[in-house]
Amino acid sequence: MKGLLVLTALFVAVFGKETFEGDQVLRITARDEVQLTLLKDLSEMEYLQLDVWMETTDLPTSVDIRVPFTSLQTVKAFLETEDIEYFIMIKDLQVMLDEEKEQMLSSARATAPRTSDDYDYSNYHTIADIYAFQDMLVAENPNLVSKIVIGQSYQGRPLNVLKFSTGGTNKPGIWLDTGIHSREWVTQASGTWFAKKIVTDYGRDAALTAILDKMDIFLEIVTNPDGYYYTHTSNRMWRKTRKPNPGSSCVGTDPNRNWDAGFGGPGASDSPCSETYRGPKAHSESEVKSIVDFVKSHGNLQAFVSIHSYSQMLLYPYGYTRTPCKDESELVSSASINQASGGTIDWTYNQGIKYSYTFELRDTGRYGFILPANQILPTAKETWLALMAIMEHTKDNTN
Ligand SMILES: [Zn+2]
Repeated sequence: MKGLLVLTALFVAVFGKETFEGDQVLRITARDEVQLTLLKDLSEMEYLQLDVWMETTDLPTSVDIRVPFTSLQTVKAFLETEDIEYFIMIKDLQVMLDEEKEQMLSSARATAPRTSDDYDYSNYHTIADIYAFQDMLVAENPNLVSKIVIGQSYQGRPLNVLKFSTGGTNKPGIWLDTGIHSREWVTQASGTWFAKKIVTDYGRDAALTAILDKMDIFLEIVTNPDGYYYTHTSNRMWRKTRKPNPGSSCVGTDPNRNWDAGFGGPGASDSPCSETYRGPKAHSESEVKSIVDFVKSHGNLQAFVSIHSYSQMLLYPYGYTRTPCKDESELVSSASINQASGGTIDWTYNQGIKYSYTFELRDTGRYGFILPANQILPTAKETWLALMAIMEHTKDNTN
């Protein structure tokens, strides 16, 4: 019995996951600048361990914050004292995580898929599954798909990019990435579906065929592999990279605040413990630097779409300044501006990639990052329509 207990303790120590019992996600509404400032100050109090999930821009501003159980009383008392409105979006986060886990386990198959047709696109998968899928897709479609390793993550995982090309050299390119924030699981799942969709539609769908006859498509599905691995093994809510920060016990940098575009400006933090920590310097994260190097060496990318969740928005440059970018009127189509400096698409736009967009996929907050798996396919399909519109527009406006 004692041996068993020791074993159990060891098991928890090795495989133990952070739990979120009693944690709530509050949707808080700041009706003016004063309340917004109070809310920012609150979210920066490190001892409360608050985790901002989503924030809108215009007043009144909605902010979704995950509040650990131990901070709930303090936060609610503060909001009530300051007369700031809120309601509970998620009553007990762990209950939702348990449901998600159960769904993954119940749908897991006894044997690994042997072809990309067998792959279960309507469920969430581990990084090993996705990497195996990528290799299957390449093996099945050698004349259309290849895998490029653009670098290594901090922990040494390959940064895989799928290249969809019908041949030719230095064709204009379209870049798509998913999962740079690791906990945004619906994005990696959608990216996997996009990859299969491209090989399925080429030669069958006129619009996609025309795009690929003129341009190459590059797709990085697991853009933050260390983070993604960690969301499966240790902490489902992990967003950042996994590189330690010297002098701090807090790990990781926000890879969407690490780009050399308004680096260090508003909407990014200089504190390593923050979820929006910008990193010690621009491009300090290899997951970011590898894309930077790829973009520069390619030299002919015409569109760049970076895919996040959640809030169902399409964002265009700039995020780091209120100054409109010069192509604003062309880029605008139900897009919005969010202030966050050091973001991916501000940098790519400044590199001359005119069609630079950020997507925020489902949902609008009911489940937030814990989107049920039965919404993966609807999300991927509706996003694909938007991607096709952007890719077609890019094709028609590229020489
Ligand atoms: Zn994100």
